[in-house]
Amino acid sequence: MIIVGIGSKGGIGITTFLSHLYHDLHHKNNTAIWFSLSSYVPLLLQKTENQWNNYNYIYKKVPSWKKIHCLCENKCLTACQYGAITRYGNNYFVYSELCNSCGTCVYVCPKKEINLENQQIAVVEKLNEHNIFRIKLSLNEILSKFNLKLISDFILEIFSGRLVFIDMPSGNKELWDELVRLSDYIVLFISDYNLWEIYYKNLFYNIKNVFLLCPDYIHNEFLKRGFSYAIPIPFTKKISSDILKGLYVSDETYKKQINFVLSKIQI
Ligand code: SF4
Ligand code: SF4
Repeated sequence: MIIVGIGSKGGIGITTFLSHLYHDLHHKNNTAIWFSLSSYVPLLLQKTENQWNNYNYIYKKVPSWKKIHCLCENKCLTACQYGAITRYGNNYFVYSELCNSCGTCVYVCPKKEINLENQQIAVVEKLNEHNIFRIKLSLNEILSKFNLKLISDFILEIFSGRLVFIDMPSGNKELWDELVRLSDYIVLFISDYNLWEIYYKNLFYNIKNVFLLCPDYIHNEFLKRGFSYAIPIPFTKKISSDILKGLYVSDETYKKQINFVLSKIQI
């Protein structure tokens, strides 16, 4: 089962809430996995930074050009429907984050001067003795749609049958579709009711298992618009202080909302 946490913007929000869900569920099911799609892991789950080990690597096939005298004018470049190829002088390069490894450029080259070669796009790190993982992207790589697909495939293959929490860095809304495809549950933190109404609501329309969280100070606006399913999350100085110290948040309302979401998740 996969539970994905996504948020419309950074700060104390979805990662904190998701880490508390993980913390509680991990006590009942100690095979649960935490997987950050970035190098950030909340202090509640890791106390120091120096206990990470390389666990695995993620590769992608991208074109590589031999030093050639081209026969044609940019055939490979124009054939790439993803705009992944660029040319500097007589040399061709690929923006690997835009490449989906389709091989069309290889196929169209009349001189057979292009090969698809494995390129490392990320390392998966594991926190010592814990089921906590994070992704570190290689230099020049970003969490593009195609890279996320490879990471998702890795998660599905390696952690098949496990309970996996995936923490998506805030923003990256263009990638939410891929996560929706992957998830059994989505925990979504939105701090703008207008965006929910105009855009996000439709994106998640067909998904039953979405928990919509919002800051408590705008919860009334969600209610006024008929979104009674929105779950208000309190923000206080004490909560911020607990989080910054890596403590489990002691606020009773916060705990109540965590328990509410946990009670709805069928494991
Ligand atoms: S493999 Fe496909 S996506 Fe990648 S650069 Fe070649 S044509 Fe473009
Ligand atoms: S398709 Fe082959 S020959 Fe044509 S520009 Fe690309 S690398 Fe050169």
